Amino acid sequence: MEWTPEAEAAVKNVPFFVRKKVKAAIEKEAADAGKSRITPAEVEATRKRFLAGRDEEITGFQVEICFGPSGCLNRAHPGDRLVKAIEVLLKEADLRAFLESCVKGPLKYHHQFRVALAECPNACSQPQIKDIGIIGACRPQVTREDCTLCQACVSACREDAVRLDDTEEKPAIDFTRCLSCGKCIAVCPTGTLASGETGFRVQLGGKLGRHPHLAVELPGIYTEAQVLRIVSDCMALYKEKSRRGERFGEVLSDEDLNRLVEKHAGKNNS
Ligand code: SF4
Ligand code: SF4
Ligand code: SF4
Repeated sequence: MEWTPEAEAAVKNVPFFVRKKVKAAIEKEAADAGKSRITPAEVEATRKRFLAGRDEEITGFQVEICFGPSGCLNRAHPGDRLVKAIEVLLKEADLRAFLESCVKGPLKYHHQFRVALAECPNACSQPQIKDIGIIGACRPQVTREDCTLCQACVSACREDAVRLDDTEEKPAIDFTRCLSCGKCIAVCPTGTLASGETGFRVQLGGKLGRHPHLAVELPGIYTEAQVLRIVSDCMALYKEKSRRGERFGEVLSDEDLNRLVEKHAGKNNS
């Protein structure tokens, strides 16, 4: 699709974090109309349609998952089923109605409650800056199978969490460094390293904006059912404490976090 310099200049006014999406929408609309060239008129037409439909599109929540389910080789634990269940739960929570009752003026995208799931610690969907962030986890365990001391697990670990020196018969995992990515398990030819706990790490209260901060991680690895219960409790907490549609991280206190940790102790608290 050809873009005139004027159209390129017009689209530069769009904030950079949505520019790619907006350009794709403009090109799609132009192609649907049988056009092969984008001028400022196409940019303006899409802008008007985008703004007109925007309010209806705001559901009150946004749930996203990384590209793991498309076949990413880094997946530590699949999260597509969990994401669907979270969508149902948030829909039932009717966050749009809640936000309409407490936000002054029209609802905007940044008011929405955000959940992101990444299927490995590479965190492509940026769970650390979402209201609830979820990361697929596969924790290694050392089995009774003989180790050939091939060092493949040591090389595979980017966290320097696999310890194996000449005097040892098997590796040891330093769980203070391990991110449960499962890479060491995948390369072990003997089964000496195998999957231990699998599930999800959960992080709460991340945000960007004027006062950004990263989400705080609850200790341990959680099952799908546990994550759903945590999301449900977070919903109740958010609705109770957010008076003006503030982001979850702004209203979540240390006491709230401690209560959540106590109530939902992960399989492997660490
Ligand atoms: S977060 Fe991990 S599994 Fe998901 S797309 Fe990124 S690298 Fe792949
Ligand atoms: S699971 Fe990942 S981070 Fe943990 S020891 Fe294995 S390779 Fe290292
Ligand atoms: S645990 Fe597996 S990958 Fe690691 S050194 Fe032993 S045989 Fe090799």
